[in-house]
Amino acid sequence: MSAVLLDGKALAAKLREDIGWEVQKLKQERNIVPGLGVVLVGNNPASEVYVRNKEKAVKDADMASFPHHLPATTTQAELLRVIYDMNRNEKVHGILVQLPLPKGINAETVLEAVDPAKDVDGFHPLNAGKLAIGRPTLVPCTPQGCIHLIKQAKEDLTGLHAVVVGRSNIVGKPVAQLLLAENCTVTIAHSKTRDLNLMCKRADILVAAVGQPEMIRGDWVKPGAIVIDVGINRVEAGEGKTRLVGDVDFENAREIAGFITPVPGGVGPMTIACLLQNTLKAASN
Ligand code: NDP
Repeated sequence: MSAVLLDGKALAAKLREDIGWEVQKLKQERNIVPGLGVVLVGNNPASEVYVRNKEKAVKDADMASFPHHLPATTTQAELLRVIYDMNRNEKVHGILVQLPLPKGINAETVLEAVDPAKDVDGFHPLNAGKLAIGRPTLVPCTPQGCIHLIKQAKEDLTGLHAVVVGRSNIVGKPVAQLLLAENCTVTIAHSKTRDLNLMCKRADILVAAVGQPEMIRGDWVKPGAIVIDVGINRVEAGEGKTRLVGDVDFENAREIAGFITPVPGGVGPMTIACLLQNTLKAASN
């Protein structure tokens, strides 16, 4: 039987509508317009598309946008000055630095320069630490989106075995922390994990955040499992065309899973919705 599709596009639209109402309320009751500063350095084509989408979403939600599109020649000191200015600007409640940054700029130094209270990406070490010890904080957007989607399938995740494939600081580790907070038993797998297929096969919830096109095979999926595919990979589609695929072999996995996210239209739209949610949260705080 075919799995139920977890429609990130529809869920994100609903979330964005709710956020829109909250934004109006904040304006009327406290005269606050949530503001997001977006920093893009250089002209990485994928980053330009992501930033354009984020800025459009901010405007659509009636929030204020503070774009800083800087040339690839920007020095680290210049970039840090832009961030310090936004840290001090009371109209900017959230700051997002689009990664990757050009060579010669240390991403860790830059992310640590963002005021943790405005860190809507949740990448600052203080916020990562708070997440790890279960204190309320600004949580990274993509992992937050994954949890929203999982909860569409099942509200109470207590006792379920979750396997997260990938251990990056921006996806794998925070997803695992959030699943732990939902009382799942969590396994984090990575490139050195042995017998990955058997590990995946034991997962009630399988989150793939690997960056390897369709690496998770259909027969690695436990029957009835909730499968969340974070991967976004562009592959050749013949005749000089390309298409996006996830980290999961969708066509085969959907025959075995209970619930599955498509790529595109799964986790991707949720990331932007959660960015708006974090900006609203930072403004309300
Ligand atoms: P990273 O490259 O930072 O991390 C990839 C992780 O996958 C690493 O932990 C790596 O292990 C692990 N890995 C790589 N190869 C294998 C393998 N063969 N077997 C098992 N584990 C493996 O990627 P990100 O976490 O940043 O992103 C992951 C994917 O999610 C990408 O496709 C990215 O484009 C996508 N993404 C999507 C977003 C969205 O909004 N939908 C947002 C962010 C990312 P090790 O640590 O051992 O090297």
